[in-house]
Amino acid sequence: MAVERTLSIIKPGAVAKNLIGKIITRFEEEGLQIIAARMIHLTPEQAQAFYAVHRERPFYPELVAYMTESPIIALVLEGENAIARNRDLMGATDPSKAMPGTIRGDFAKSITRNTVHGSDAPETAATEIAFFFSQADLCPRAC
Ligand code: GDP
Repeated sequence: MAVERTLSIIKPGAVAKNLIGKIITRFEEEGLQIIAARMIHLTPEQAQAFYAVHRERPFYPELVAYMTESPIIALVLEGENAIARNRDLMGATDPSKAMPGTIRGDFAKSITRNTVHGSDAPETAATEIAFFFSQADLCPRAC
């Protein structure tokens, strides 16, 4: 297994409900290291660009509206197999199908308001990390 980096977003509804600490605790207790963190209130243009892969989908306007309603926390998580481990912690995209004990299973309200984002592959992780962070923003523990 390789050490990977993945982008996590704590979405607006979770930030608004003071769930930042509870969600970050799940990452840390899993042994993933937070090597970058940033709070940002996305503009519509930024949210559209981040989710551009979904621009033809019917839920795209609702997704962009949700992601811009209040600030998010963007995080870079690092660890062995971090991409899949973060996806396991997150649970299924649709919270009604997410297992109890997962972040979405425990905190999410709907498929749009589903608490967290996590990269799904090494290529998307690299692109998504670069969307929010420069190389100088990343602070791996070995530094
Ligand atoms: P993820 O990787 O689990 O976040 O899922 P996707 O990359 O497929 O979708 C991105 C985001 O779009 C999801 O986290 C949801 O917030 C939203 N989304 C995906 N599929 C649907 C859907 O069928 N309906 C609605 N309303 N939103 C969706």
